Amino acid sequence: MTTAKRIDGKAKAEQLAESITEQTAALLAEHGIKPGLAVVIIGEDPASQVYVRNKKRRAEACGFHSVQHTLAADTAQDDVLALIDDLNNDDAIHGILVQLPLPDHLDEQTITQAISPSKDVDGFHFVNIGKLTAGHTADAFVPCTPAGCILMIEDELGSDFSGLNAVVIGRSNIVGKPMSALLLQRNATVTMTHSRTKDLPGVVRNADIVIAAVGRPDMVKADWVKPGAVIIDVGINRVEKEIDGEMKSKLTGDVDYDDVLSVAGAVTPVPGGVGPMTITMLMFNTLRSARLSAGLEG
Ligand code: NAD
Repeated sequence: MTTAKRIDGKAKAEQLAESITEQTAALLAEHGIKPGLAVVIIGEDPASQVYVRNKKRRAEACGFHSVQHTLAADTAQDDVLALIDDLNNDDAIHGILVQLPLPDHLDEQTITQAISPSKDVDGFHFVNIGKLTAGHTADAFVPCTPAGCILMIEDELGSDFSGLNAVVIGRSNIVGKPMSALLLQRNATVTMTHSRTKDLPGVVRNADIVIAAVGRPDMVKADWVKPGAVIIDVGINRVEKEIDGEMKSKLTGDVDYDDVLSVAGAVTPVPGGVGPMTITMLMFNTLRSARLSAGLEG
């Protein structure tokens, strides 16, 4: 029985982070520019606090100017917008990120669209979404999770997916939709699927590339998978599992990893797959923004 390759997202992310750190040092030495990342967190969501801490740590490790703005959960929307306006006008800041989800009284769309498209390193601004959809990515920011996924797929299949079928499961604005645009740009034949799709296993069985971004633990099984397919598991689900006779809380993806190993060609694990790449792509986008601001790219 063959066993699929485990795609090591953690190792790839570390390699990429090393290169970002080197390029950051060179940008400072040659042009006097230090990439600046501002992260805004509003409220006390514990998972968001962990994400923000990790982003700050990674930004500092890359040699960035890293700023965190922590606002109270009841901060008025106008005050959030005023802070974003200040950051948009701050030359030391090249990337602005507002950690989601936001407290209920704040309007996510108004806030994400207030970030200047040229500092929108999350790639959520309509200008960046439009550029990506039009295939004009030279000066656009691509959302970090799909950007990391595509690099992992390219490692397995090269950069031209002509003749390959790709199935994206989940149609969110931050993962599914931009993912399908990136796959299409590389000539894959793309099928977007979602909760209303008929016979999802049958559709996935045609796929040479599968992206699972749903939020349902272990949903994709071996009998959904075409032999040799490359499977990227974006899902992050916390589940209770029995480990050594004890119930423990554990992270799992949308793909039943052990089950698909005997059929797939390559699979990302959870944890250690897409997650570490996502945070590194945020650093990639911030460095890129700093270079674009100096006319060094684009
Ligand atoms: P979301 O929660 O916004 O949307 C889920 C999508 O799944 C929807 O489009 C829905 O139509 C689809 N869906 C729901 N049930 C389905 C079913 N039974 N069959 C087929 N499709 C179904 O999605 P999101 O924000 O893209 O997040 C998806 C998962 O990815 C979550 O587990 C999230 O935690 C994870 N995530 C991980 C990272 C990372 O860096 N690893 C980043 C973003 C999201």
